[in-house]
Amino acid sequence: MTKLTKTDAEWRAELTPEQFRVARQAGTERPFTGEYWDTFTPGNYHCICCDAPLFEHSTKFDAGCGWPSFSEVMASGNVTRHEDRSHGMVRVEVRCGNCDAHLGHVFPDGPAPTGLRYCINSVSMKFYPASE
Ligand SMILES: [Zn+2]
Repeated sequence: MTKLTKTDAEWRAELTPEQFRVARQAGTERPFTGEYWDTFTPGNYHCICCDAPLFEHSTKFDAGCGWPSFSEVMASGNVTRHEDRSHGMVRVEVRCGNCDAHLGHVFPDGPAPTGLRYCINSVSMKFYPASE
């Protein structure tokens, strides 16, 4: 897969300031403020930057943390993992595999069968409700 690359100026022109801060500068939205943290409508979540499909509602669960949480990615390769040693912690950052947008982090305390909790910023995603 060829990676999508754009300059910061190009991303700034396409994204809101908050989307740019989180998705392109590895920011974090405040918990319980995002659009999707308590959404359980059927549908798919895509990358806000490049529209790649990332997560589906069937793997979403309420982790009580104030961010959308998923136990699995839609397709391996659509989400990549990177060691993150910022803020005095060692965490695993997850990014869009297509455009490197910062999505959030993955933690090993999720529900079975994966045991994973993908803790994702709402602002890094765009939701497409399933058609009736
Ligand atoms: Zn993307």
